[in-house]
Amino acid sequence: MERSFREEIRSLGLADGEVFHGEGILAVTKALLQSGVSYVGGYQGAPVSHLLDVMVQARDEMDALGVHVEACTNEAAAAAMLGASIMYPVRGAVTWKSIVGTNVAADALSNLASPGVKGGALIVVGEDYGEGASVIQERTHAFAMKSSMWLMDPRPDLPTIVRCVEKGFELSEASNTPVMMELRIRTCHVRGSFVAKDNRSPAISTRNLQQDPAPFDYANLSHPPVTFRHEKLKYEVRMPAARKFIVDAELNELFQGARGDVGIVVQGGLYNNLIRALQQLGLADAYGRSQIPILNLNVVYPLVAEQLTAFCAGKRGVLLLEEGQPDFIEQELNTILRRADLQTRLHGKDMLAMAGEYTAELVLRGLVKFLALHAPDIPVKSGESLIAEVDGLRERAAEAFGGAVPPRPPNFCTGCPERPVFAALKLVQREIGPMHISTDIGCHSFATFEPFSFGNSILGYGMSLASSAGVRNFSARRPVAIMGDGGFWHNGLLSGVSSTLLNKGDSVLVIMKNGYTSATGTQEVISTPGSESRRVAEGASATGDEVTIENTLKGLGVKWLRTVHNYKVADVRDTLREAFTSNYDGLKVIVAEGECQLERQRRIKPLRARMLKEGRRVVRTRFGVDEDTCTGDHSCIRLSGCPTLTVKPSSDPLKTDPVAHVTDGCVGCGLCGEVAHAATLCPSFWRAEIISNPSGWDRLKEQMRRSVIRMLQR
Ligand code: SF4
Ligand code: SF4
Repeated sequence: MERSFREEIRSLGLADGEVFHGEGILAVTKALLQSGVSYVGGYQGAPVSHLLDVMVQARDEMDALGVHVEACTNEAAAAAMLGASIMYPVRGAVTWKSIVGTNVAADALSNLASPGVKGGALIVVGEDYGEGASVIQERTHAFAMKSSMWLMDPRPDLPTIVRCVEKGFELSEASNTPVMMELRIRTCHVRGSFVAKDNRSPAISTRNLQQDPAPFDYANLSHPPVTFRHEKLKYEVRMPAARKFIVDAELNELFQGARGDVGIVVQGGLYNNLIRALQQLGLADAYGRSQIPILNLNVVYPLVAEQLTAFCAGKRGVLLLEEGQPDFIEQELNTILRRADLQTRLHGKDMLAMAGEYTAELVLRGLVKFLALHAPDIPVKSGESLIAEVDGLRERAAEAFGGAVPPRPPNFCTGCPERPVFAALKLVQREIGPMHISTDIGCHSFATFEPFSFGNSILGYGMSLASSAGVRNFSARRPVAIMGDGGFWHNGLLSGVSSTLLNKGDSVLVIMKNGYTSATGTQEVISTPGSESRRVAEGASATGDEVTIENTLKGLGVKWLRTVHNYKVADVRDTLREAFTSNYDGLKVIVAEGECQLERQRRIKPLRARMLKEGRRVVRTRFGVDEDTCTGDHSCIRLSGCPTLTVKPSSDPLKTDPVAHVTDGCVGCGLCGEVAHAATLCPSFWRAEIISNPSGWDRLKEQMRRSVIRMLQR
């Protein structure tokens, strides 16, 4: 896994009165244990990966409490785990990245929300929205509304986050409804402290077993005819109970301000940005005390009409901060105001933005407009001059770059094993022409950027092969689907491979077998060499057969299967060519094998450091470019894109173009040499072995080589 959480695991054991310091997402983890949770599951993904990663690494501590931790193979499996809370008074929490994970989990969530729950069920979703996001820009809010699950959006402040987790379970139990908690990127990574409580061992747990299963009760199955009653219960019983709890437990926060004539309603997750913008206008102090009253919604669904009308009554205007579209809260608040016959003017999307992240800058711009209209006596000069300054800076930056600041897309790591496969695909395309490429979610999606620019579609995690199904029937050339091993186990095995076999599809699938779900933090999959899950599976197997992608594909009936070593570019090119031109008209799978370089470096760097410390012989390979032979056409760069293969000015005054250059960051993966050979490029690349603590034989060889070179030079 990406990193060790030894320190964080220690803070999970803090006792009553001790102070926790750290990130928001880890505060959530501690709060779960303080809440007496019986089971935790999830599927990794930014920005909530650490929640599950810490729990998985803290298995011993969880065992001592009797808490079961499950690293689920996808979000649907995680959501289905919550079924334990339907009939038993056990608290459970699951986590994943939203919106993509919530899409995958949607079926199980609908079937969970319909009967409702007895034990508290909390779904912690990483709301990956806005400028730092890596997925589709949609809101989890829609899922909460359609399935009638409650949605919390806590203020980015550790005591508030912890209280929301604890109260979230109570809210779930008081209203028999699963509760979702959306944590934005900034909320997950905000740092702070809170006073801890003792962890609570759950009453029913791995250490206190439930002796008998719950009695059969058809009313708790999401199946007709009881689903008709469930729908009524949602609106007649559960929602009123939730609203009562939200008010009684004071889950939403009212911050009074000196100005009674205007007010701001804000989604909890945006509170810090609002305060920052108010500070720019001199309307909030360093402690966040605002002159304008604020109603902070830590629960954004359901809304409590009485709470909102009480806040808006008597105010000339209210500004609503609701990030993203559609404007669910604004529409409902407008309805609430009309029904209460309040004349307070409501502003939101008209002064802010319909789509995109509500940064402090964007909120400041909205506040300036709002105050100019409803509180013109409040000076907004400081805000206006800051906005003018920011606009000026942007203009100057654009001018400096000749129109616009160039984008800086992400790239494969130095020495990534996936890069050579795309270099080989480029070479094949030169021979047989371009083909439709279905891309997928994972590190390999970096190939959609320069220098490869590959991909005609991305339809979801593990969905690439399934998305080739329509295309292959009208394409002259076979389409190719790219998938990672993470995507393969998450979804691709069923939705892609089995579906293609069922339909006798004539497709090519390339599976990047790097050993981990690398893009989410190098978590293990069942085929990770030496992984715990694989050891368990191997132990359970009577034959001792390994759980590998190849064995799984063979077992499913894949007949055309090749495994290639990624860095052997010519072999990969030949295998790809064979797949595209073969007479075999079934599914052709190429397993491209090469360990994630990031994880490899994490594994070997400490080993190398220890060997150096002990004075042992260590060999490091690196590549370089002979400046004299480099023609400066940069074909190698166009076939690689490695960040350490770059350009530098030539020291030869007759060469005006910059020459290729390998920086010291080269990890010696070998792609440079392989690609030069496979694409018949110029012979400029050299390979060197840097030997630390050389042996006597190394020294002797070196002396002999130098003598021969000297002789030849003479
Ligand atoms: S994390 Fe691993 S698989 Fe992903 S780009 Fe880096 S080296 Fe490649
Ligand atoms: S050999 Fe080439 S591709 Fe590999 S790390 Fe070095 S510069 Fe990058």
